[in-house]
Amino acid sequence: MKKKVLITGAAGFLGSHLCDRFLAEGFSVIGMDNFITGDPKNIKQLKDHPDFEFIEHDVTKHITIEGELHYILHFASPASPIDYLKIPIQTLKVGSLGTHNLLGLAKAKNARLLIASTSEVYGDPLVHPQTEDYYGNVNTIGPRGVYDEAKRFQESITMAYHRFHGVETRIVRIFNTYGPRMRLNDGRVIPAFMGQALRGEDLTVFGDGSQTRSFCYVDDQVEGIFKLLFSDYVYPVNIGNPNEISISDFAEEIIKLTNTDQKVIYKDLPVNDPMQRKPDITLARKLLQWEPKVQRAEGMKKTYDYFKGLSRDELYKSEHRDFSKHIKT
Ligand code: NAD
Ligand code: UDP
Repeated sequence: MKKKVLITGAAGFLGSHLCDRFLAEGFSVIGMDNFITGDPKNIKQLKDHPDFEFIEHDVTKHITIEGELHYILHFASPASPIDYLKIPIQTLKVGSLGTHNLLGLAKAKNARLLIASTSEVYGDPLVHPQTEDYYGNVNTIGPRGVYDEAKRFQESITMAYHRFHGVETRIVRIFNTYGPRMRLNDGRVIPAFMGQALRGEDLTVFGDGSQTRSFCYVDDQVEGIFKLLFSDYVYPVNIGNPNEISISDFAEEIIKLTNTDQKVIYKDLPVNDPMQRKPDITLARKLLQWEPKVQRAEGMKKTYDYFKGLSRDELYKSEHRDFSKHIKT
């Protein structure tokens, strides 16, 4: 009998890659998603796979799964700052109520649950690079607080279920990850710059562009998550690529990669936008014998090839997603 894994957020960027990986490893996979920020197209390759089942469901509502379940990966959540600014309450609910439901399911099924946490738990960090023992610097009531605090609560309730109920849990703190299947109009910097380059628009750098990020290619991220799930370690682990770059240098890099002669234009920096971000991955190296392998030049080329392959309609339907059908008044 194949081991069964439930992956929430399956129609999203990371969730869909995780579905592919677990199926390739010989698991039976149930994907769950309500498509609020995801896209059915991301899992269309799995439609006829004999070991894949899809359930359209909002994880903030009670979750029922028939039969045995061995592993759960909770990846459902808006992940782009523009998404979670537009759907703040759904973001808070999926990190809190959704996680509570999945912990209850894990307890009932005796399944191991891995939750997708984030570098955002460190907020605008005062420690650089960020180590797992840093408590963070988050503005609870700022616009990003809905995401950051939902994820911090998610970590706390996960540890509480582990300590109080003995549920087997794992916590990955994911740093900016990119690759094929990101939504072109989700507002995150890589799809934003690539979309702009492909449409012949200027690249919009927010602030003076001196803020930094460290970008991890999706295959490396999935490998780190896979190894963490099967490790014995219950505390949070950073998974990301420590190769740090300023956003203005990154814009120049994208102009070179896309071989366009776009200009960079500067716009206001969003409130509470973290000024620096770089994972300390000493723990992951030691614990999981994991480190990223894909250089940014290679990962960005693959990502650009993906965006280049989108239809003209997709490329020009660049306005941000309308969430109104998901929002009940
Ligand atoms: P994404 O928006 O592409 O995917 C999220 C998926 O979750 C979407 O398919 C969406 O429809 C689904 N979803 C949201 N709310 C739901 C709900 N209530 N019920 C069911 N499905 C729901 O984002 P992503 O980049 O793939 O991120 C996946 C996870 O990884 C998120 O939890 C995110 O916080 C975390 N993460 C991602 C990054 C990154 O760089 N990609 C960084 C840190 C953390
Ligand atoms: N950013 C930018 N131009 C854009 C989109 C984003 O300069 O069109 C900046 C943003 O202000 C942030 C960085 O790029 O400093 C990364 O933003 P993203 O939304 O990808 O993720 P974050 O790391 O902030 O969650």
